[in-house]
Amino acid sequence: MSSDEPSIFTRIINREIPAEFLFESERVIGIRDINPQAPVHLLVIPKDPSYRNVVELAEGDAALLAELVAVAQQLADEHTDGQFRLVFNTGPAAGQTVFHVHAHVLGGSLTEGRLA
Ligand code: 5GP
Repeated sequence: MSSDEPSIFTRIINREIPAEFLFESERVIGIRDINPQAPVHLLVIPKDPSYRNVVELAEGDAALLAELVAVAQQLADEHTDGQFRLVFNTGPAAGQTVFHVHAHVLGGSLTEGRLA
């Protein structure tokens, strides 16, 4: 994808393509992953598409990264027993396919479903 093209997440944020929204604030959304890899698989995404991965986000806006973690905890409290894995795939070789930073919130029993 050219960097001029909006990411799939920007298109979701702009309501150009549908998604199951679980959370929205001024700077962050939470949606259900379309292809779950765990019993509960949510995505927490900043609206700002400037940061391609968590390293860039940590360097560029640490407060926004902290907000993502807080939203992840809130969603985990609402959708799981409050315990979860927080995964930021970073780079194609690590499985990253969308270069608009996002946190995977993976919850539910580790023996159910395949974990990412
Ligand atoms: P990555 O592989 O970049 O770490 O994660 C991208 C995630 O976005 C994948 O888990 C994938 O299932 C999810 N995803 C891709 N396209 C869509 C979509 O259109 N809607 C939703 N809800 N999730 C998507």
